[in-house]
Amino acid sequence: MGISSANGTSAAPKTGSALHHSVTAFSVKKGLMMLRGIEACCPPGTGDAARPQSAEKGKVMARRPLLVTMRDRIVIINKSLINQTCGPNGPHAAVPPALSCCMSPGSPASADSDSKRRRALPIPRATLGMQTFVPDSSVVSDTVPSVNFGDRAKGRLPDMIVLHYTGMPDVEGALARLCTSGTDVSAHYVVLEDGRVVQCVQEAKRAWHAGAASWAGEEDINSCSIGIEIVNRGHDWGYPDFPLRQIAAVIALCRGIILRRDIPAHRVVGHSDVAPARKKDPGEKFPWRSLANSGVGHWVQPAPIVRGDVLKMGSEGDNVLALQESLASYGYGIKTSGKFDTPTTEVVTAFQRHFRPERVDGIADQSTLKTLQTLRDSLAPGATTAATT
Ligand SMILES: [Zn+2]
Repeated sequence: MGISSANGTSAAPKTGSALHHSVTAFSVKKGLMMLRGIEACCPPGTGDAARPQSAEKGKVMARRPLLVTMRDRIVIINKSLINQTCGPNGPHAAVPPALSCCMSPGSPASADSDSKRRRALPIPRATLGMQTFVPDSSVVSDTVPSVNFGDRAKGRLPDMIVLHYTGMPDVEGALARLCTSGTDVSAHYVVLEDGRVVQCVQEAKRAWHAGAASWAGEEDINSCSIGIEIVNRGHDWGYPDFPLRQIAAVIALCRGIILRRDIPAHRVVGHSDVAPARKKDPGEKFPWRSLANSGVGHWVQPAPIVRGDVLKMGSEGDNVLALQESLASYGYGIKTSGKFDTPTTEVVTAFQRHFRPERVDGIADQSTLKTLQTLRDSLAPGATTAATT
């Protein structure tokens, strides 16, 4: 079963255009403005009070998904209707169904289609008896406890977010892999295509999402980070665009984590940034620009692609050394050898996926070099991290 049918949405991923074209900064910003408007009339805590609490002990806690409301905040364009969601029936009360799914291309705005889309979470059988926990974030709709976690090394507090895609054909398989024993992988959060946010590991614990990785001179990335898996089939399965409601949920989740943990913008990265030799996720379609416009992550407008000298596999000399030093000082794990070798190509490719997604070829052209320079120049003073190895 594919992901689209698994979550019941008829909104097939758009093809032919990268998401950063279809998700405009305006639309995401507008959604967040509305989110702030809702929060203004629904003080923190009231949402939790309005949610049904844990049903049966020992079973997965099914709480009213806050994101149902959040998604509606994004689609509601009449502010008087926003107030309806926070009316006398309490915060996050039933939203008029006609308002709830107009962001899905081709999906009829009806209660029927809405209930179909919001099908039950595919909870792995092995986790059903596990003790659940109180979510760390108010945007979490469900907890599905994973057995795969440990303690953060030396009590390290997380000051970094690593974003992933699941890279699997369906959400059922992804949740099973992330939560059951024997796989040795997990993440703190999983963000579904319909915008639901599932927490699998408490933030205080060390989830196993990064693997062999490096950033800013640190190699135990699992101990210093919070891992978020974004449900997407990935490059091996067609790599669909990320739906808007999913990106809005990622933004809302990250904003909370960033505020609570004081995470610097340049420490919100992709898995490919910390493991460029092994990983492509979340990939060049991930709308980093939209995230940055909504206060999540560090991003600058890429320099235009023009003709000119390039550095590529086999190049050697001071210019290569300067490139490697620049990438290393931003955080990438790269040796400063002065030789443009395979690892350098991999790091340049990872940089392009994140910061210059128009062309991802591992060749350091003028656009790539200028974008890197602008990115470094835009860091707050003292934010650059020496990571030369
Ligand atoms: Zn990953």
